[in-house]
Amino acid sequence: MNRVKSATQPLCHWCGKPLRKWTHDHDVPKELTIRTKAEAQKLTNQTVVSLKYWETPPEQDYDGLRFTPEEKLAKGRHVYRYATWDGESYRAVCGFFCSNNCAMDLGNAATQPPHNVVGKAYNDALRKRRA
Ligand SMILES: [Zn+2]
Repeated sequence: MNRVKSATQPLCHWCGKPLRKWTHDHDVPKELTIRTKAEAQKLTNQTVVSLKYWETPPEQDYDGLRFTPEEKLAKGRHVYRYATWDGESYRAVCGFFCSNNCAMDLGNAATQPPHNVVGKAYNDALRKRRA
C-alpha cells in the first residue's frame, strides 16, 4: 500500500472504484469527552472524516477508577477515536489500484490477446466522470 496525492479522487485502473482516502487515526485524550465531529474537529488542523464511538458508558476510566452513576451518565456515548485526512492523499496498491487482486488481474489481462491493459470498468468510470 502506498500513498498517492491527487487533487481529484483517483480511480482504480482495473475496476474503476475510487481509491480510499489515506487517513490517520487519533485517540481522544482520556481527560476529554467528545460527542460530535465538530468537537473532534477542534482538536486538529486536518479534516476529520470519521469517528468511532464508545456506545456503552464505561464502568471505569482508563486507569481503572470506577465511575459513580452520575459520572457514567455524564460520560454517555462518546467518541474515543477519530480519523483525519489531509485533503489530497489516497491509498493505492502499486500506485494505481484499489487492491492486490486488481493489480494482478490487470497484469494477467496484459499477457492475453488483445493485450488490453486498460480495465474496462476503469475506462467506463473515467468516461462517466468526464461526461
Ligand atoms: Zn480495483
